[in-house]
Amino acid sequence: MNEMNNFGDTPEARDIAHHFHGYTNARRHQEIGPMIIERGEGIHVFDNAGKRYIEGMSGLWSVGVGFNEPRLLKALSDQAAKLPYYHNFGHKSHGPAIDLADQLVEIAPVPMSKVFFTNSGSEANDTVLKMVWYRANALGKPGKRKVISRHRGYHGVTIAAASLTGLPYNHRSFDLPLPGIFHTMAPHYWKDGRDGESEEQFATRCAEELEALIQREGADTIAAFWAEPVMGAGGVVVPPKTYFEKIQAVLAKHDILFVADEVICGFGRTGEMFGSTTYDIRPDVMVLSKQITSSYVPFSAIVMNDRFFDPIADESNSIGTFGHGYTGGGHPLGAAVALENLAVIRERGLVENAREVGAHLRARLATLADSPLVGEVRGVGLIAAMELVNDKATKSVTTVSQLGGMMNVAMQRNGLISRNMGDTVAFCPPLILTKAQADEIFEITAKSLREVEAAV
Ligand code: PMP
Repeated sequence: MNEMNNFGDTPEARDIAHHFHGYTNARRHQEIGPMIIERGEGIHVFDNAGKRYIEGMSGLWSVGVGFNEPRLLKALSDQAAKLPYYHNFGHKSHGPAIDLADQLVEIAPVPMSKVFFTNSGSEANDTVLKMVWYRANALGKPGKRKVISRHRGYHGVTIAAASLTGLPYNHRSFDLPLPGIFHTMAPHYWKDGRDGESEEQFATRCAEELEALIQREGADTIAAFWAEPVMGAGGVVVPPKTYFEKIQAVLAKHDILFVADEVICGFGRTGEMFGSTTYDIRPDVMVLSKQITSSYVPFSAIVMNDRFFDPIADESNSIGTFGHGYTGGGHPLGAAVALENLAVIRERGLVENAREVGAHLRARLATLADSPLVGEVRGVGLIAAMELVNDKATKSVTTVSQLGGMMNVAMQRNGLISRNMGDTVAFCPPLILTKAQADEIFEITAKSLREVEAAV
């Protein structure tokens, strides 16, 4: 250890000394240290003092089947014993990748054709952008290569993915976004809807803004549009009625591809297997990660139709190879876990469970909208958010993140791990949640809210 701090010679001190955390204020971490999680069981995790928490965020929106599913562990160890590693370069393949590609195409909500494997959501989105550019060249339209995503959208943090992401702290000081990546408005009706404007009218305005951006840049320069069916990290933004219908009409008119980032929504979160089904999105490309393996193994996949794949395949033929791929792409351990995870989700009816228990949880959380501090409760399936405000009439907060931060601390103290994005408090518990556990989440949330009310 190079540094001493007031944690002495403890795991906390060693964490501070040598562990640089993602999405953490690095200086503040030196003062307050880490929360160390030691083990998991079902929807619960336990810290190193033995305190039990409901993992109300499924880790990072991702541990669908809970934290100790024996079937996933067995699939992992069986595959490790048989073939712990192989790749797919130069025509090589292996059973788990073949079976998984097959199944993903089969369960896709629209006709799809091919699956390309990657290791994270960021990497998958970066790869899709490279494929969009490669395809544009293949089609002899190298100028049709710009792309549009949305403010508040989250698509990851690698250079292209962070550029697609529409959040200020992912751009600021990183010298991003890259040129040619544009952001259109988020469909955040509660926040950005005007007085007297209906959801449908607001959705029309979103589509008009997209159309205006396309016109400004030139439709023959725009290749693709990126969207999460439900925005996650940007604040759990559920699209208003008719939004995707109107957006897709604009895209179709200008021959623009739809990339659905299903990294959070995929595998049941919205109460359907895919968010694209929930919102009648007909994507050309779907990006999958997180819940694909319940995050037991880092893994991601790009599912695409022939319209997307065919020009890319032709271009690889003329160049001699598709010059892109990852050492870990389609990793047999991840693929084996993904196959078993999918089997567990299907056999236990976890998509239906997310729909039913999600509706129950959201109905209970909605009763908290009576609080003077709650501006809105929204959600779909088993993903929800509560907006905290100081003034309900103006939907405003006195100090940004203060209420959200206080609520987060109170909930954690009361045994529920949540996440606040500013003053938006998110709920994204494992898909295995029972009604009784949903009630427990509600009780802790209500208690924590009363504590925050008393404190402000
Ligand atoms: N897309 C979405 C919708 C996400 O929520 C995330 C992760 N929060 C990503 C992409 C990036 O995934 P990763 O962190 O695995 O790179």
